[in-house]
Amino acid sequence: MESFDVAIIGGGPAGSCCGALLKKYAPEMSVVILEREKFPRDHIGESLLPIVPQVIHEMGAWDKIEAADFPLKIGATYRWGKKKDLWDFEFIPIQHFHETDRPGKFDGQRVHTAWQVYRPIFDEILLDHAAELGCDVREETKVLKIESTGDRVDALVLESGEKITAKCYVDASGVSSILRKAMGVEAQYPTALRNIAIWDYWDNADWAIKVGVGGTRILVMSIDWGWLWFIPIAPTKTSLGLVCPLEYYRKSGQRPEELYAKAVKQDPLISELIRNAKPEGEIRTTNDWSYIADRLAGENWYLAGDSCGFADPILSAGLTLAMFGARQVAYSIIAEMRGTHDGQWLKSFYTEKQRRQIGQHIKFADFWYSSNGAFTDLVDYCRDIAKQSGHDMSSNAAFGWMATGGFTNDDPVIPMLGGFAIQAVKIQLARISQTRATWKVAEYNVFKLNLEGAVEDTFPIFSEGRVFNTPCYRRGESILPKYGMFGMVIEMLQAESRIVPALEWLERRYYEDPKYPNFEMTMDYALATLESMIDDGWVTCEKNKKDMFIVYETPVESASFHTNRDIARTFGV
Ligand SMILES: Cc1cc2nc3c(=O)[nH]c(=O)nc-3n(C[C@H](O)[C@H](O)[C@H](O)COP(=O)(O)OP(=O)(O)OC[C@H]3O[C@@H](n4cnc5c(N)ncnc54)[C@H](O)[C@@H]3O)c2cc1C
Repeated sequence: MESFDVAIIGGGPAGSCCGALLKKYAPEMSVVILEREKFPRDHIGESLLPIVPQVIHEMGAWDKIEAADFPLKIGATYRWGKKKDLWDFEFIPIQHFHETDRPGKFDGQRVHTAWQVYRPIFDEILLDHAAELGCDVREETKVLKIESTGDRVDALVLESGEKITAKCYVDASGVSSILRKAMGVEAQYPTALRNIAIWDYWDNADWAIKVGVGGTRILVMSIDWGWLWFIPIAPTKTSLGLVCPLEYYRKSGQRPEELYAKAVKQDPLISELIRNAKPEGEIRTTNDWSYIADRLAGENWYLAGDSCGFADPILSAGLTLAMFGARQVAYSIIAEMRGTHDGQWLKSFYTEKQRRQIGQHIKFADFWYSSNGAFTDLVDYCRDIAKQSGHDMSSNAAFGWMATGGFTNDDPVIPMLGGFAIQAVKIQLARISQTRATWKVAEYNVFKLNLEGAVEDTFPIFSEGRVFNTPCYRRGESILPKYGMFGMVIEMLQAESRIVPALEWLERRYYEDPKYPNFEMTMDYALATLESMIDDGWVTCEKNKKDMFIVYETPVESASFHTNRDIARTFGV
């Protein structure tokens, strides 16, 4: 029997991220990663959001991933929503993107871009990196059984019969969630979304758009009964997949490859891009049902990555949730083992925050599906999703409904959802539903802090390997940080409740101590923060005819979200 400080089950991105950060910040710890496969191994989940490269940078593996020559992800082009025209979302508006050599460095515009990755190679680089930092990585080592007493894990039993013990265990085994299941933690399936994915890889497909050196936007194209992803993952290799309801697949009576071929033919743009390309011809399938585990930690164990839960791939958020969560697990384990923080406190914060984020992503995905007018053959399915999630399809109602429980502890500095600022979330909701997104900060003009039932508390912020206790108000599971932009808005409302004088106060404050690059940005962040505080019940609003209102709108067309100009022109779609 071997003993370690930490034993991680699974060497996917969550496992290697957790292991690498443990060894980076606590090199004295012994960490073993037990992976059942021999890498490189197949995996789906190829389109990243910019938070993932940021975590990879913290792990110290950014240069290695960049050197692998994965296409640079600048954004996505969608056919999705009430109208059938194409629209783009860009992390950096391409008119502002300047071409630079690759491999590049993690600075400037590259901090805001992501990659599209071929997972066998991507996962192998990360796992090797964890080994290089000192993790004991054991491939072809399957954990077969968990021995436990009550809520405490005693040992992992390997397929070989050997046992591994540790002070702390991390289940990063993905959807197989071996430890979660062994500890009797149930998962909830809070949505009517029940999809399957069918995909293949294509050699030499054209790219719809080329940006700089090796950069592009992925394509997400709705057809009448599902949607297609088109993700270049290497200079000549493209992942092309179909997502459709399981029920549709069953009723079709067709084999996966037949349904796939039918879908690909239905999209004129994708048909054009693969005209001279060759498929591998090895069709893969999986179901992609969203779920959330009831509990993400126990006496001496944590869940990380997909074992905590999963949200439909339409938002490309799987690895963002998996790796950002695994990062927090690493920080929490170090703080508990070093005795700087109470483990129970860290675990309950992790459970609350990670569950909320997965839940918000599931709701966001529900909105995307139920508001997609392009799914003309799936009207009943979309109606069921909307009904089960209990929302109507206006963008304002959807925003309020997603904000319940708070964006406020998603990021301690500004409110965000899955790497999107609140403005960006509202723009997406408005564009998809073709309803106007309004702002309560403009609809009302008097705003008062509502601290009824709230208590003074602290919550953890994770930075440079350490956990910082940060003051906040807490009401139930909802946290209002007295820090960052939230702290600034609290001070602003304590100084002035009428919106125009309040923003004048903010302006004076900004020029005394400019924290953000310019005042317009500070104002946008402050208004988004105020809006999210209203939706989460931290601020009450009133209309007073004697006071001035502000004009604040969500533009349907903006630099980052706009009707597609380039692909539509080139391909005539
Ligand atoms: C159709 C589809 C499309 C997706 N698209 C995207 C996307 O575009 N972008 C995105 O970010 N995410 C996407 N995802 C989600 C993404 O794939 C996952 O969120 C991500 O892989 C989670 O990482 P992980 O490390 O938690 O789990 P995994 O990557 O699954 O790693 C788990 C590891 O644990 C190992 N393991 C399992 N059981 C055992 C055991 N008993 N003993 C030892 N080892 C074990 C496995 O072999 C595996 O290597 C998609 C998912 C699906 C289904």
